[in-house]
Amino acid sequence: MDLYEYQAKDLFAAHGVPVLPGDVADTPEKARAIAEELGSTVVIKAQVKTGGRGKAGGVKLADNADDAQVKAEGILGLDIKGHITRKVLVTVASDIAEEYYFSFLLDRANRTFLAMASAEGGMDIEQLAVERPEALAKIPVNAIEGVDLAKAQEIVAAAKIPAVVADQAADVIVKLWEAFVGEDATLVEVNPLVRDPQDKIIALDGKVTLDENAGFRHPAHADLVDQEAEDPLEAAAKAKDLNYVKLDGEVGIIGNGAGLVMSTLDVVAYAGEKHKGVKPANFLDIGGGASAEVMANGLHIILNDPAVKSVFVNVFGGITACDAVANGIVAALEILGDEATKPLVVRLDGNNVEEGRRILAEANHPLVTVVDTMDNAADKAAELAAAGV
Ligand code: GDP
Ligand code: MN
Repeated sequence: MDLYEYQAKDLFAAHGVPVLPGDVADTPEKARAIAEELGSTVVIKAQVKTGGRGKAGGVKLADNADDAQVKAEGILGLDIKGHITRKVLVTVASDIAEEYYFSFLLDRANRTFLAMASAEGGMDIEQLAVERPEALAKIPVNAIEGVDLAKAQEIVAAAKIPAVVADQAADVIVKLWEAFVGEDATLVEVNPLVRDPQDKIIALDGKVTLDENAGFRHPAHADLVDQEAEDPLEAAAKAKDLNYVKLDGEVGIIGNGAGLVMSTLDVVAYAGEKHKGVKPANFLDIGGGASAEVMANGLHIILNDPAVKSVFVNVFGGITACDAVANGIVAALEILGDEATKPLVVRLDGNNVEEGRRILAEANHPLVTVVDTMDNAADKAAELAAAGV
């Protein structure tokens, strides 16, 4: 889960990383009130989960509360790379002597954590990484050893951060590591990390990605979920404990087991090439116990996706045998009633497959087509979806 800048900075502050005070507003009037309260020059910053806000006009200085209101009015509603700005952060403005770059991330390819740092931070870090990679220090961090002061000093030296602020920067890096580990993050990025004219180090921007797999260790992280911005289908699936991910195609997918569902996505995408280029509309793994209720929940989510034109139910019977799954499908269609309006292609295999197919044949539901093999079922589902496009 990616955090907004204001949430990232709240986490930083909780771990002792220096940030400037501020608050979020969803109206120009609230922005004005916050600026008045802060009583200084402020920066109004679009809260969107994408970078490059500065260049897109989403970061503006305001001299006073009136100005803050005007600037907030201009930024609220702004489209930044497809993200509509619904909130702005109003925060004390800093004078900037220098801008540095710092991040901790998970380096999957090398199976390690990585610190990246540069004395040349600011808005064009991606460009710097390409054009002058030597200016961006990359220091692997051993997960077990972590980052102590000595390690942080090594990073600071490699990044060529000036001596006057080296100790402070190292101290901040240790705290950012504590935040990274303590919050189970996979990314913590500060760009810019600034030196102000009084040689104080401040995190002026923040980007944090939390590892949702560790959510059970952090009940408080649930509050960081942006309900309004959540995909409604994904939110509904989460509420039913379903492993659902929305994709942008037309063939709804239900399967049991993540591996089977992944391969189902592949065969459907492949089959779709012959049928108007239709693609999978989602990933949905209903897991081992495909009861009628779980099947109904899954179908309910998928049938409510207006993009879905056909549904492919691909189940391999194991502990939950095919007859139970078939009964689940029949009962689910009964539960859903008029809500079930899109063609379903069902492929069953595995434990008790004959009985499963017999149950579906006997039910003879007008929307259901049973196909024996995965490839043929994918082709049928793609064909039916293409007919509805
Ligand atoms: P991003 O463009 O999305 O990364 O947003 P940032 O928060 O990094 O802001 C972009 C740029 O705005 C920074 O690199 C700074 O140069 C500038 N900026 C942000 N906050 C302040 C501030 O408090 N004072 C001044 N003078 N500039 C700021
Ligand atoms: Mn930035």
